Amino acid sequence: MIPIRGFQGQTIAVFGLGRTGFSAANSLIAGGATVVVWDDSESARNLAEKNNFVIRDLRQKTAFNDVDLLISSPGIPHLYPHPNPVIANAHSIGVPVDNDIGLFFTSIVTEEWSSFDSSPKVIAVTGSNGKSTTASLIQHIMVSAGKNCQLAGNIGRGALDLNPPAEGDIIVLELASYQTELARVLAPDVAAFTNFSPDHLERHGGIGGYFGAKSRLFFQGGADRYVVGVDEVEGKYLSAQLSDMPYDDRVIRISVSENLIGNGWSVFLENGILYEYRKERKCASVELRDILNLPGIHNHQNACVAFAVARALRLSPKLIGNALRTFEGLPHRSQRIAEVNNIVFINDSKATNIDSAIKALGAFENIRWICGGLEKEGGLKALAGKTAAVCKAYVIGRNADQFALQLDVEAEICITMAKAVARAVEDAEPGDTVLLAPAAASFDQYDNFECRGEDFIAHVEQQLMRLFPE
Ligand code: ADP
Repeated sequence: MIPIRGFQGQTIAVFGLGRTGFSAANSLIAGGATVVVWDDSESARNLAEKNNFVIRDLRQKTAFNDVDLLISSPGIPHLYPHPNPVIANAHSIGVPVDNDIGLFFTSIVTEEWSSFDSSPKVIAVTGSNGKSTTASLIQHIMVSAGKNCQLAGNIGRGALDLNPPAEGDIIVLELASYQTELARVLAPDVAAFTNFSPDHLERHGGIGGYFGAKSRLFFQGGADRYVVGVDEVEGKYLSAQLSDMPYDDRVIRISVSENLIGNGWSVFLENGILYEYRKERKCASVELRDILNLPGIHNHQNACVAFAVARALRLSPKLIGNALRTFEGLPHRSQRIAEVNNIVFINDSKATNIDSAIKALGAFENIRWICGGLEKEGGLKALAGKTAAVCKAYVIGRNADQFALQLDVEAEICITMAKAVARAVEDAEPGDTVLLAPAAASFDQYDNFECRGEDFIAHVEQQLMRLFPE
């Protein structure tokens, strides 16, 4: 746990008692603050009470009279579409609002670091898609290099649950837009941006708000290096605004769509090969095409970002290339479940938005596509023309009929995962890929995308057992 310094004797309110809320409360108490907590859910409050936290109803008008700071959880809207009443209450009397990530950056550096030969480094990864894969890849590369590397943030552990880093340690934080928008301090050593596409628009008051939330990570703290994907205009803007000159190599530019041979420092993809250039000279190349656990250009983009981050920390291209080859992948992201009779089964349940589903559809051939669920705002229009590799769609979800109507490929309305997998397996021929890439949220049928992915895996296994009982 990372104790929070600088709040001794102050009263801090913590709102939202999920993973990050409890860890913020514990870390603040460990640092000597007086902490009061609240959650709208009674069961969360009961749990807090059992753990001896002081409960205060933060919806009451007077609740913030003696409060110096409010710490809010990532799921709680603080501005759009409307501030949660508790947040509005704090705002109305001028109490600032922060989150666990802001607290992390205020407290991570300690006096002990001045005795280290090599300071710990914090790497922060954001972007619309590929954050978890990229952050995990970076961790894998660091561990392969013999470093002690912890991963936290929007993935796995809460940032304040990490062990205080020792000499030479690395921390990788995956940061979502909700987290970067609210954190009052953002000061990583290396900040990385994978790519940009519309998402969470309601929560950020539109696309400008969403980009503004992400770009705080870059304009707020002043990292030593920035690794920026420039395949969209937002990334191009970021990389230019962060540079003093075109050859400013504090910014490493990443692309999977254009050759970036210029004055500066760049990592780009051409024909499935990663190239690193610096001052117009090639420094390294790594073959990515044959890495089974990083299929498709989107995963090559993640590999380029992770490569650049590791280069920024002075690891060798050879070491990084070897580490990319031994990456096992993450569950529910391009996850290879089985290959039987030359039919491959891929679980990409995390493809909850259109952009990530399009990327999955571009990564495989002869696709038996299991899709559908709770449609995201903006509809499915962007899928038009992106389904050339799809043999047929098998549509799941409560509104499967509506979803199917919007597709430009042959689609069978299956509603349940059981039927979709069974039908796809019946139709599949050698050379086909049965791909779950829903292009929709899971909440109409499942608790979350993980449950949907597990259900897919269970049905694939059931079908394979039926067909190949031995
Ligand atoms: P995030 O943490 O940003 O949600 P993940 O690594 O969990 O990203 O991947 C989420 C979804 O996006 C998965 O379906 C995955 O296959 C897909 N994906 C991964 N990397 C990229 C990328 N660079 N661009 C677009 N989609 C991606």
